[in-house]
Amino acid sequence: MPLHDLISGLTPDQFPVYVYDLAALREHAAAVRAALPERVELYYAAKANPEPAILAALGSAVDGYEVSSGGELAHVRAAVPDHPLAFGGPGKTPAEIESALRLGVRRWHVESEHELRLLAALASAADGPVDVLLRANLPVADGSLDSVKLAMGGRPTSFGLDPALVSRCVRLLAEPGFERLRLVGVHAHLASGLAAEAQLAVAEQVVEWSLAMAERHGITLEEVNVGGGMAVDYADPAARFDWTAFGTGLAKLLDRHPGLTLRIEPGRALTSYCGYYATEVLDVKQSHGEDFAIVRGGTHHLRTPATRGHDQPFTVLPVADWPHPWERPAVTTGRVTVAGQLCTPKDVLAAGIPVAELRAGDRVVFAMAGAYAWNISHHEFLMHPRPGFHFLG
Ligand SMILES: *Cc1c(COP(=O)(O)O)cnc(C)c1O
Repeated sequence: MPLHDLISGLTPDQFPVYVYDLAALREHAAAVRAALPERVELYYAAKANPEPAILAALGSAVDGYEVSSGGELAHVRAAVPDHPLAFGGPGKTPAEIESALRLGVRRWHVESEHELRLLAALASAADGPVDVLLRANLPVADGSLDSVKLAMGGRPTSFGLDPALVSRCVRLLAEPGFERLRLVGVHAHLASGLAAEAQLAVAEQVVEWSLAMAERHGITLEEVNVGGGMAVDYADPAARFDWTAFGTGLAKLLDRHPGLTLRIEPGRALTSYCGYYATEVLDVKQSHGEDFAIVRGGTHHLRTPATRGHDQPFTVLPVADWPHPWERPAVTTGRVTVAGQLCTPKDVLAAGIPVAELRAGDRVVFAMAGAYAWNISHHEFLMHPRPGFHFLG
């Protein structure tokens, strides 16, 4: 396997490394696209992993990219210049709005009434109409979001507009001064981590609510964006979100609403699986009856397990060589906690995991490190060297 060949060929000082399997990413993204009906547009939420090679590898499968800051906008625009962008996220500054309009961003996920007013006031910087989706924080049926770790809606949050405020903004959009803005739809990204059936139930509620709202106002909506948040199961690296069931369900939903376009904007479920964080075991020691392996690097490179509270799945690549005359430190109990080099007890990548054998000098390869991994981590803490970056395929 090319991944293991690459890792075996590195010297200890070349670790840790991030390796991205771009061929696998292209294949996965194409399968996701193929599972979705035609009237579902697929956007990639760039914040999950904005590596230029990743953005480019997704290019043929996605309809566009969702960006959430002026920085992401400039970066994504440079990496994939020909793709449409949608600009979302709370707290857009006037300068960001103006430069995004100048750069030709035509799709906006509006988070508040003040932002809508700012956008209208600055829209003369655009050389055409500006499409607006109002981000709604909808009440969803009890229990709909119970299974998730990150809920952005259905409760008080800093995201989007309550239903009454959506109505206010719809009325505002008909007033003088808002002529350059075109209300095309509703955007709702309510939670991250929903399995296909739950995701579909939420999508149905969002669509039904949006269309009922439009009817009350006597307007037509072209599009409903039901967000991202498709589940990724770190406890089971082989499991995948059921894109086929989701696509089939969305097709049924679209059958009930001819003329409507749906959009989704997953991040994690697209890019998690293509990324690996590989490193060398520096030391193995016993502490109060438990085994600890200390690796080069740690959660300053891969913060995800510490912040989400999961064990990052890994495999061991044994290295036969042991250059020292003393006994090789090794796991003695059949279980290991893998920790990094930081001086904090939170620097744990995986805790109490069964292993047949693990010794100092062996290599470990953490899987599912392609989303919210390097780019969400606190790189400067303790000033260890940065990992190397490798792209396969
Ligand atoms: C983060 C985010 C996404 C992507 O979420 P995932 O859980 O990575 O799929 C999509 N839309 C919005 C508005 C977001 O903030």
